[in-house]
Amino acid sequence: MAIPDWLRRLRDRDVSAEDAALWTKCPSCGEMLYRKDLEANLSVCTKCNHHFRMSAYDRINTLVDGDFVEIGMEFLPGDPLGWVDKRSYPEKLEADRLKSNLTEAVVTGFATLDGFPVALGVMDFSFRGGTMGTVVGERITNLLEEARKRKLPCIVFTASGGARMEEGMLALMQMAKTTQAVERFMSDGNLFVTVLTDPTTGGVSASFAFQSDLIVGEARASIGFAGRRVIEQTLRQKLPDNFQTAEFLLEKGHIDMVVTRAELRATLVRLLDYAVDRKRVAPALKAVPEFAL
Ligand SMILES: [Zn+2]
Repeated sequence: MAIPDWLRRLRDRDVSAEDAALWTKCPSCGEMLYRKDLEANLSVCTKCNHHFRMSAYDRINTLVDGDFVEIGMEFLPGDPLGWVDKRSYPEKLEADRLKSNLTEAVVTGFATLDGFPVALGVMDFSFRGGTMGTVVGERITNLLEEARKRKLPCIVFTASGGARMEEGMLALMQMAKTTQAVERFMSDGNLFVTVLTDPTTGGVSASFAFQSDLIVGEARASIGFAGRRVIEQTLRQKLPDNFQTAEFLLEKGHIDMVVTRAELRATLVRLLDYAVDRKRVAPALKAVPEFAL
């Protein structure tokens, strides 16, 4: 081997070992992206505009005015069925807690968005695939009830693989529970907005995700109920390439708008500006000092 080749290989090996944590490969275009640049660009590929999945807290930090107050942390998962497959359910939960720094697959709380007080829920796919079990259902319901008391608009970002299979029927019941909570919240005339991020599927898509006043799809997000393969096998038809993308759903009238991550905050602020009377929500907040924003 020529010495320059040897040096190049040595250099490449050192770079890959040393900088593995600093670089990430875009799954869409294959470009190597410097993580800091990627984060500065809201986790969107600078070359092909691929939207990487975001953690709940990163999402919150990019949206709110730096004043997020978390609620619902007292709701933590148990092991109602004593579920064991390759690992027990508590072992899986513990592994996901360590991996994601989350206690469950949704983070809920209050914050202001360009001065507009809102109730905010953000799901995180890195915790049990964003699946909805008793705690996700309870936190979403609690968020809607607390927002209803304060007459605040509620925005929920969804990211979910469906129902939490380790909680069986109790997980499926959360669809009915959250659906009723949304109904109560909206029947009082409060604004409910959902932002469907990649992926939004299963029980979450069949309940609160599609119940809102305004359904926003994040660009290129995969959104649907059953998986593409299941549908193809059932219908015995080839589905279009863009099937179950936010753009496809917009074309078919299933969602109201598709927004890129870069435009998302400004779009939500504009919607709040149209729909919410700042004077009406301010006194409601003053009456609840523990959530004063
Ligand atoms: Zn890319």
